[in-house]
Amino acid sequence: CSEQDDSSPVEGLGHLVKTDLSQLSAEEIYLLLGKPHVITVEKEDVNVELLKALNEHCDVHPNPEAIAISQNRKDEKRFVESLGFAVAPWSSADHVEALMEAGIKLGWPMIIKRCSTGYDGKGQWRVNNLQEACKVLEQAKPTDKFIAEKLLNFTKEVSIISARDLHGNIVHYSLTENVHKDGILHYSFSPATNISEQLTIQAQEIATAMLEKLNYVGVLAIEFFMIDDQLLINEFAPRVHNSGHWTQIGCNSSQFLNHIRAISGRAVASAPNKGFSAMINLLGQAPADKQLLDKELQIHWYNKSVKPNRKVGHINMNDQEASKVESKLHQTLLDMNKPDNQFSQAG
Ligand code: ATP
Ligand code: MG
Ligand code: MG
Repeated sequence: CSEQDDSSPVEGLGHLVKTDLSQLSAEEIYLLLGKPHVITVEKEDVNVELLKALNEHCDVHPNPEAIAISQNRKDEKRFVESLGFAVAPWSSADHVEALMEAGIKLGWPMIIKRCSTGYDGKGQWRVNNLQEACKVLEQAKPTDKFIAEKLLNFTKEVSIISARDLHGNIVHYSLTENVHKDGILHYSFSPATNISEQLTIQAQEIATAMLEKLNYVGVLAIEFFMIDDQLLINEFAPRVHNSGHWTQIGCNSSQFLNHIRAISGRAVASAPNKGFSAMINLLGQAPADKQLLDKELQIHWYNKSVKPNRKVGHINMNDQEASKVESKLHQTLLDMNKPDNQFSQAG
């Protein structure tokens, strides 16, 4: 269970939340879990050594090696580059000389990112000069490692959600366009707009190559920066992904269903779009009365306590017409920002 959770989402496993797993062997954990056939992850910041040890007793999907690569930004970038794909220009940034070199190579301002454990923009800093960059390193733990990344003026951000099963079948969902606020995903819609067919094919080819190289089973998400008609890989996530939540309303087989199908040995199901879809994250904001909302909006509430900017739920919407989903999306965003809205803010 992640530290962000208030309770175990799996009925019957609540007792595990309070158990200190570090005191137990992998076999004891496997028994405590009820001898599962397969174990999967809901986030990448997990104990890979434990997963490898659990893999002696049951299947683990996606495989721990793939998860390990996604845990470290340097490994992740080198893996993507080794396949011949473009990443956002970067440089190692673990000490002052490296920061100086990064400044020359990438230019100021740039973004410094901690190599591991960051999410929702946490663990990254926009720095304007060497002095500000040095401050980031001074305030870090001695074990922390960093990269510097060129600050990109991208056209838009898109992601692809793909699933691969044990038989090697692969399904790609339509490209999703993502809008972030302060490094946190604010809203998404799919299919992404103004994308050439050639670019869609390129994103699918990248996903296929990564899934095959990693011998991956389950759902994989890849985030891209799009600059004009070029795709640069930002990062990938070895799990179901926030930018794929719209598939719950927009496809017969959602990313969650296909993940479970894949890891349990079934074939992934094709996932054509049912029209046009969008998703808005509830960030530190709860619908005061879920009944007040338009019935056409599908609300998912995570039963977490509301804290500023914490992802506590999401709203999905779908329509046969792109313009209707667009106006629903913009109307809901406006409603959420009204002072007298039906949503309550975390303070
Ligand atoms: P996630 O919650 O997706 O795991 P994260 O904390 O790992 O996020 P990134 O995906 O690296 O962080 O960055 C979060 C967002 O910050 C990006 O989606 C983008 O909007 C912005 N961002 C990150 N890197 C850059 C960059 N090099 N240039 C411009 N904007 C950037
Ligand atoms: Mg990330
Ligand atoms: Mg990201």
